[in-house]
Amino acid sequence: MISMRFSDSGIRVMRDFPSDAEVISHKWLVRAGFITQTASGIYCFGPLFYRVYRKVCRIVEEEIDREGGRQVQLPLLHPAELWQRTGRWALYEASGVMFQLHDRKEQQFGLCPTAEEVVTEMAMQLISSPKQLPVNFYQQHTKFRDELRPRFGMVRGREFTMMDAYSFDIDEEGLDRSYQAMARAYHRICQRCSLNYVVVHADPGAIGGSDSEEFMAACEIGEDTILIAGQYAANEEKAVSLVEDLPAEEPEPLGIVNTPGANTIAKLAECLSIPEAKTLKTLIYKAKHEDREEPVVALIRGDKDVNEVKLLNHVGALTVTLADPDLVKATAGCEAGYVGPTTLKAGTRVVADETVRAMTNFAAGCGEAGKHAINVNHGRDFATPEFADIRLARAGETAPNGEVLEAFRGIEVGHIFKLGDKYSQAMHAGVNDSEGHFRNFQMGCYGVGSTRIPATVVEQHHDENGMIWPMAIAPFHVHLVPMKYQDDEVRAVVERVCQDLDKNGVEYLLDDRTASAGVKFGDADAIGAPYRITFGRGLANGTVELRQRRSGETREVPLDEVAGELARLVAEESHIETTV
Ligand code: ATP
Ligand code: MG
Repeated sequence: MISMRFSDSGIRVMRDFPSDAEVISHKWLVRAGFITQTASGIYCFGPLFYRVYRKVCRIVEEEIDREGGRQVQLPLLHPAELWQRTGRWALYEASGVMFQLHDRKEQQFGLCPTAEEVVTEMAMQLISSPKQLPVNFYQQHTKFRDELRPRFGMVRGREFTMMDAYSFDIDEEGLDRSYQAMARAYHRICQRCSLNYVVVHADPGAIGGSDSEEFMAACEIGEDTILIAGQYAANEEKAVSLVEDLPAEEPEPLGIVNTPGANTIAKLAECLSIPEAKTLKTLIYKAKHEDREEPVVALIRGDKDVNEVKLLNHVGALTVTLADPDLVKATAGCEAGYVGPTTLKAGTRVVADETVRAMTNFAAGCGEAGKHAINVNHGRDFATPEFADIRLARAGETAPNGEVLEAFRGIEVGHIFKLGDKYSQAMHAGVNDSEGHFRNFQMGCYGVGSTRIPATVVEQHHDENGMIWPMAIAPFHVHLVPMKYQDDEVRAVVERVCQDLDKNGVEYLLDDRTASAGVKFGDADAIGAPYRITFGRGLANGTVELRQRRSGETREVPLDEVAGELARLVAEESHIETTV
């Protein structure tokens, strides 16, 4: 990329952080003039951000090309009809994530949040023989999502760029190979962008499918909780843990006791002198399906919590949300605080967590204020419910591998999914195999946040003075700060170094303004190029000061060696050895 001079670059570093920014990357990216906000979750990329973004895109493209990806470009306006074929129009309408609009003929369209339907339709037209498989189509293009909380700047936009790839195979073994190839590409992308990351088991969400893993950058501000125990790592949405059951007891007679003021599980357990694990929580949800809404009751051991993603997947609804007071009353005949499994209207769907299976003689709500039922037993006092794992795993619990789970926060930078034939079946997409049998494509889909990655890198690489870009994606390799640039002699020296840097392929930002040294140094730190060259007192002896942004270490380098030295540093630091 070409080098620039500050005076005609369109860069402006501000003295203050934007008042609405909550996280470091948003604060610095706006303050240092990388991005400007157009509306909530919608941004302009200034010249600095654009350079970083293009470098990230290039890394992503190189690594996916290396695994045989074929770059394409898909439309952003998607006809509703296409999404109706897979049932996802209603799903995205229910969650409100898709921007939906009409054309002048009242035809419905959506702005692309993801492109499984569109790419499957393209594959149906381009792929007519199993000899054309496997194939992996990918693009790096805009996505639109009407996020519930568009915040954190480039971390969660409503308009953003994603690399999205879609693999087509004839069978599951092929899909597995395509999936592993993309996992390898993702590892190299994360490593080349200097991200500190982990790969976790994930819930596929509205995309669907079976296997799915997320590439998570470890970060305090991450909106995902990840649980890790040795080799086991999973998103909290998906994580499973083992919990010990209390010993089973002989059933005692059901009773109702006074429990004044026991309006929490902790108070109830204290009031009855029993462990929280001997109490039951009864939660009423509203499950929204394409054609109906209905209450679903979740039962969970008192010391545990419901994982709403697991509940949603089990119920197979479009959404599940806690019921409003009217629905609670209609389902349980009482207010939310007093609901118990024995108060439910007959015929209500009840899903109990697996931990409830072993529970005997437990305490639960009985429909009345100030009272609870004791010695409740399922199958006797209320119908045996459906059992499923709907429990939220927590740090401190035992992972399936026997080790103890620890919790971390993470930002999802990439996601890979095995879709199988979910889309190809719904859309009748596939090819005839060598025996003439029609086989649906086995598909995978893959997404990398090309605009989220730069923000995540800033979250992981910054200090109190600004951003610290890793060489491979830095807007410039070096920031040039001449003192007395207006002096003809100084200017001649600087121009000569610039020419040397150009010859050596080193990208620089030359601060040619008449600002004070303090302002120039401050701006250089904020912008965060990996190195800074100061043309100052050393010029008398034919040297310049070379400073590393990350460590703050400085050294004097002879004028005629500095370009070569930087070329060496650029090569050394941008060609990161990857481990896969
Ligand atoms: P999240 O859970 O963070 O909302 P997601 O699981 O909905 O993300 P995917 O559909 O898996 O996202 O999209 C693939 C990738 O696109 C994500 O891993 C992320 O890097 C990026 N991405 C998703 N949503 C956004 C957004 N609103 N802004 C910027 N990047 C995003
Ligand atoms: Mg995801």
